[in-house]
Amino acid sequence: GSVPNNMDAFWMPFTANRQFKKAPRLFVGAKDMHYTTDDGRQVLDGTAGLWCVNAGHCRPEIVQAVQAQVAAMDYAPAFQMGHPGAFELAAQLAALLPTGMDKVFFTNSGSESVDTALKVALAYHRARGEGTRTRFIGRERGYHGVGFGGISVGGIVTNRKFFGPMLAGVDHLPHTHDKARQAFTKGQPEWGAHLADELERIVTLHDASTIAAVIVEPVAGSTGVLLPPKGYLEKLRAICDRHGILLIFDEVITGFGRLGAPFATDYFGVVPDIITAAKGLTNATVPMGAVFFKNHIYDAFMTGPENAIELFHGYTYSGHPLATAAGLATLKIYKEEGLLTRGAELASYWQEAAHSLRGLPHVIDVRNLGLIAGIELEPIAGKPTARAFDAFLRAFEKGLLIRTTGDIIALSPPLIIEKSHIDQIFGTLAEVLRDLP
Ligand code: PMP
Repeated sequence: GSVPNNMDAFWMPFTANRQFKKAPRLFVGAKDMHYTTDDGRQVLDGTAGLWCVNAGHCRPEIVQAVQAQVAAMDYAPAFQMGHPGAFELAAQLAALLPTGMDKVFFTNSGSESVDTALKVALAYHRARGEGTRTRFIGRERGYHGVGFGGISVGGIVTNRKFFGPMLAGVDHLPHTHDKARQAFTKGQPEWGAHLADELERIVTLHDASTIAAVIVEPVAGSTGVLLPPKGYLEKLRAICDRHGILLIFDEVITGFGRLGAPFATDYFGVVPDIITAAKGLTNATVPMGAVFFKNHIYDAFMTGPENAIELFHGYTYSGHPLATAAGLATLKIYKEEGLLTRGAELASYWQEAAHSLRGLPHVIDVRNLGLIAGIELEPIAGKPTARAFDAFLRAFEKGLLIRTTGDIIALSPPLIIEKSHIDQIFGTLAEVLRDLP
């Protein structure tokens, strides 16, 4: 592509900046499954942007809804007043969620959703006279955005280490991935329950009366598509229940159909107290996040005992009219086209295609669920991430956009994907892997 001469002012996230400058890639258009580059090439979007464009790019219904809204009313605050779109979108989301989880709070991003969930969890216990519950438990290799709350409960060293003291009182469950993989090969399919016992140890160590919430991604996305071992989420739920600890699922990636069900809570049949969401909520057309709460959490503030407290939290753009318009149009598409369960219909085709990469050079693991997959490559000794980044560049040259995290290739295409696109994704990847040094 043509290299623009004004690339110096825009500060991209750190390492991404260096990688971009090695091989600038500019998108100027997008439609359904494809991006158009500045030199007019079509690139198949194997990642739905950043795991977010679930209904495909530039859907006319969403574009028109946003255009109509911006012409009619650009902005309305959601403090003491409102606008119909915010109420309507919240009601439609509540109808999608598990029974008894009917309260929706709007944010502008996944990071803000995580901050909101953590703050409300603390205030909930305080409102119920259990203000000693201030500790959080996250997970190694968990990604919960880049706010101070999110990096504190998150488990990625590079995202934390330069930023001084984190939120106080956070412990991390060991990541389950490698142990679970070993366990599977040893034929212990219920091993997940044993791994979750680590939570019991932390609870005992600190005393349950000091712990506010546990937060996990049901499937860890950004750190390489790490699937929960069997029984793991169930056991976390049981331990939280036993000790009055809230369970938060961060569904910023898994929400809105990624696993072949509306949410991971539906897929796994484990219902948390709080769900954080963003990305697919508006098909990424307008930034928006949301947090979903079980009714008893809302009730603790609004109808609870006399010691209920005033909770102040909210954003200028909570429930922004353009975002709610995009959200309503997006949900309509999801419903009419059955996209929230399309991943289930395509799951076995997707799985077979993904696993066709097993045995190719450098591939050490393939993981998948619904319409998400992680292809783990053997790192080059002393040069972590180099091999996967090379694969990324080569795939891009061949007209395929993939995402890499460490030496893991992550795939999460728009849910409108057809089988021919699946063939193209894994066919291209196979070529790339055969050519990789
Ligand atoms: N939580 C999870 C699970 C995520 O995957 C992400 C983003 N990839 C976030 C939170 C943060 O979302 P955002 O980048 O919109 O702040």
